[in-house]
Amino acid sequence: MSFLTIEGVRKSFNGTPVLREFDLSVERGEFVSFLGPSGCGKTTMLRIVAGFETPSAGRVLIAGEDVTLTPPNARRIGMVFQAYALFPNMTVGDNVGFGLKIAGMGKAEIGARVDEMLRLIKLPHLKDRYPYQLSGGQQQRVALARAIAPKPRVLLLDEPLSALDAKIRVSLREEIRELQRELGITTIFVTHDQEEALSMSDRIVVMSEGRMEQVGTPFEIYNRPRTRFVASFVGTLGLLEGEAAQGDRVIVAGQEVQAETPGAAPGSRVTLALRPEALSLQPNLDRRNRLNGEIVDVAFLGSVVRIRARFGENELLIDTFNDPAAPPPPRGDKVSVYFSPDDVQCLDAATGASHR
Ligand code: ATP
Repeated sequence: MSFLTIEGVRKSFNGTPVLREFDLSVERGEFVSFLGPSGCGKTTMLRIVAGFETPSAGRVLIAGEDVTLTPPNARRIGMVFQAYALFPNMTVGDNVGFGLKIAGMGKAEIGARVDEMLRLIKLPHLKDRYPYQLSGGQQQRVALARAIAPKPRVLLLDEPLSALDAKIRVSLREEIRELQRELGITTIFVTHDQEEALSMSDRIVVMSEGRMEQVGTPFEIYNRPRTRFVASFVGTLGLLEGEAAQGDRVIVAGQEVQAETPGAAPGSRVTLALRPEALSLQPNLDRRNRLNGEIVDVAFLGSVVRIRARFGENELLIDTFNDPAAPPPPRGDKVSVYFSPDDVQCLDAATGASHR
């Protein structure tokens, strides 16, 4: 049985639907991200789980108990927000112990638990400091310690890294995930950053305009996007507009390629989606498809060289590894790119839905 269940949740504000139908089962100890552009309803869904909003329809269950109408403080949930929400007039230690004090825990017990939490976030030496004496990253670690100190049943993280600079963001990602695994705490993480979601999550819920577009592991979301929205929102993608032909054939820029096109009627418009790393300038047994085009641009990125090439009306990005013995081909050169039929995602050109 799942630990956190969201069942048929909908939410409208003043008649405007913000969440259309949300169903999700989260296992105990699982780390699930809500990923989507600004305004798609991620925070609203999180606030419904936290109890700060009541859904217009549907239910939220934690450990089998219906908490839809339970007030936030009775749900045993920990929360960390984007902005540092530490109490400015309290020391780090008092901030971390705040929830424990509210819960009526004894002084000695609070002291021990606070020390344990500060050890976990590797900041035991900052116990007597005030929030203004901490860096942004340290403040967010304290906010995390404060959220998990009362042993919440579910941890909710609302873009906790987005106010930090890039380097700290990456190291905190790893720290949060390590801590979450160690404590085995069921976690929902809201982000609009696909790299964050891909690198941290057990599963990702991709959202757009109040809808769940796809739920899956980072591997599935990246490699098997089920809609055009998911395909283009997560990762870099090249799109080829074409026409389905007989069998598994597709005509692109006057050339025939092979792709899995189940359900696509011959003559119908399809879009083939390809990741830059699925394309190569060298053929092999798997990469049976060839497209001839012209190089438009070459970006030397270090270990990777990203080539942009045109095929009729379409453009693709091709990632090749840097080869110190061979400089990349110049712009304007004719080029053949090769790819495997298995690496092509075939989407319906009109609806954006996957043909897989
Ligand atoms: P962001 O990443 O920008 O926070 P989000 O995906 O978390 O976006 P939400 O904050 O859930 O999106 O907002 C979804 C939509 O609901 C937005 O259009 C927002 O303006 C609207 N909305 C959110 N809260 C309220 C409210 N209390 N009253 C009216 N509209 C609201």
